[in-house]
Amino acid sequence: MNASLTPTAGGQDQFLTILSREEAKQRFEAALFPRVVPSELRRLAEALGRALAQDVVAPIDVPPFDRSNVDGFAVRAADLAEASEGQPVCLRLNDEVIACGTAPAQPVRQGTATAIATGGPVPRGADAIIMVEHTQPVEVRAIEVRRAASPGQFIATAGSDLARGEALLRAGTLLGSREIGMLAACGIAQIVVARKPRVAVISTGDELVQPGEPLRPAAIYDSNGAIITAAIAENGGEAAFLGAVDDDEALLEAAMRAALDDSDMLVLSGGTSKGAGDLSHRIIARLGQPGIIAHGVALKPGKPLCLAVCDGKPVVILPGFPTSAMFTFHDLIVPVLRRMAGLPPRNEAKVQATIPLRIASELGRTEFVMVSLVAGDDGLIAYPSGKGSGAITSFAQADGFVTIDALADQLRSGTTAEVTLFTPQLRLPDLVIVGSHCTGLDLVIAALSREGLAVRSIAVGSLGGLAAARRGECDLAPIHLFDEKSETYNTPFLSDGLELVPGWRRMQGIVFRKGDVRFEGLQAREAVRAALADPHCVMVNRNQGAGTRILLDRLLGAARPEGYWNQPKSHNAVAAAIAQGRADWGMTIAPVAHAGGLGFIPLTDEHYDFALVTARKHRPAVRAFLQALASEGSRAALTSAGFRKV
Ligand code: AMP
Ligand code: MG
Repeated sequence: MNASLTPTAGGQDQFLTILSREEAKQRFEAALFPRVVPSELRRLAEALGRALAQDVVAPIDVPPFDRSNVDGFAVRAADLAEASEGQPVCLRLNDEVIACGTAPAQPVRQGTATAIATGGPVPRGADAIIMVEHTQPVEVRAIEVRRAASPGQFIATAGSDLARGEALLRAGTLLGSREIGMLAACGIAQIVVARKPRVAVISTGDELVQPGEPLRPAAIYDSNGAIITAAIAENGGEAAFLGAVDDDEALLEAAMRAALDDSDMLVLSGGTSKGAGDLSHRIIARLGQPGIIAHGVALKPGKPLCLAVCDGKPVVILPGFPTSAMFTFHDLIVPVLRRMAGLPPRNEAKVQATIPLRIASELGRTEFVMVSLVAGDDGLIAYPSGKGSGAITSFAQADGFVTIDALADQLRSGTTAEVTLFTPQLRLPDLVIVGSHCTGLDLVIAALSREGLAVRSIAVGSLGGLAAARRGECDLAPIHLFDEKSETYNTPFLSDGLELVPGWRRMQGIVFRKGDVRFEGLQAREAVRAALADPHCVMVNRNQGAGTRILLDRLLGAARPEGYWNQPKSHNAVAAAIAQGRADWGMTIAPVAHAGGLGFIPLTDEHYDFALVTARKHRPAVRAFLQALASEGSRAALTSAGFRKV
């Protein structure tokens, strides 16, 4: 065993006290607040997106003088009291025209009017404006008016928009273009805004490679660095990403100290679970007082979260898994960051939705479950879309998440739950596809996306898709189910209300590394025989219930060769296992084998079709899908990707 994998005393005691989410939040915030939000003076042009640090009181009246709202004539309303179509009143014109920006020189005396432009200051004596459209020029310097005017009409009085001394904007207001416009209208050129907290971000882990660099074997791209940096900026911080540091105590300590010197907050990710690199929490203990506040929080995902305060500065170690890192960041760090940035709490949009499948939950931990929303017959349906805390894509595909209370062990199917949305507005998909996923499907969907249709494809497997279609939760369910009895695909599985839309064929076959003489040039059945004859030959299987597994089991009969119990859930996982030498052969579809640069021996055509919900057949998005599926473009794309359109 590697020496660094041996549990040390420090490594063992780290999770002794797991705090509840509420307790951890309360202790962390109590150690940080109250505190003064540092502020700075900024020019209006550079204040966009900043939070006001102080209330702003209007220093002048807006408008600063009584002002005409229309092009017309300034008059005395009393002169026009009797004016009507039958009894026009004639007013003599004063010898001036009040343009915008000119101060009037003459008063408006009884029986007179002064021409005035929109925005012009109302002259002394005048108390109303009549629109030029409602007058008729007569003689040389007079107008005729055929309707009465009420006092004050078309005049914006001084301070009517904003009165001097009135609160204009409150501290904490985020300055957008409208707020900036209000400040400019009052003549304010500089404003005291909260200084953005400087937040240093460090990723930790020997395995991390920065995007743009080539990926070494066994390495992964650092996604946390980029996500956390962006999320800090989204929440009022000024993030400085300092790169990834290896799991080396001395290096990490130096990096953490330097980062903390230059910033108001430090966010690390990785290295918090019990394992090779649990160094950061030991280092934190040496960085300042009071040090670690919580290490281990009853959250799922996110248990290994570490919260600390070092001499007044928050230091946080987020779990390494990107999804865990994001949930803990949003739940416990964002509120703190926003307070430090002088911003109000994040305004989260929430909707109610029905849970279609039971979601099991661990008792004792507050659990966040990502969901994709689709429209059902009676409101929204929330499909759990998580692929586990190590997955990053579920974030992009989900609309939001439900929070399962620490005291609940499940959300029952049919329960109504509150969904916190990731974005302020929800855009429901135009077309919902629930079932088995295929890379060929993406090619057909791409055509719809180009037409501006939002398509949601939720991968729950063929049987899950059929169930969703029967419940009316989707438009189409892609399926590839082989019926042993009739020896046909898909049709035997349809029930009332569903009809079959033919999709395409996927060639299933034996996949191996090119050049492996045990397989090159053989037929599928011979290849399996050859593999079984060689005790050093390792296979990779598929999960129970997969169409591919059924084919494999038929080929293997009673044989259980080495690797049989390695049962990944996807075609790509099979290809990766073989490409990386963890296995020598398996079964996958031709496009995946070819994309992975692997050898392939065809076995049988698998039918990938769609169960269409008949009741939804005439919806525009469904029609668009059927058209796209039938189009030459799709056929060409599918063919070149290795599928065979029927
Ligand atoms: P750790 O907490 O360091 O044990 O990491 C837990 C898991 O998260 C491991 O699979 C790490 O490879 C992964 N991980 C850690 N840091 C990152 C990161 N910055 N980006 C993506 N994955 C990470
Ligand atoms: Mg690590």
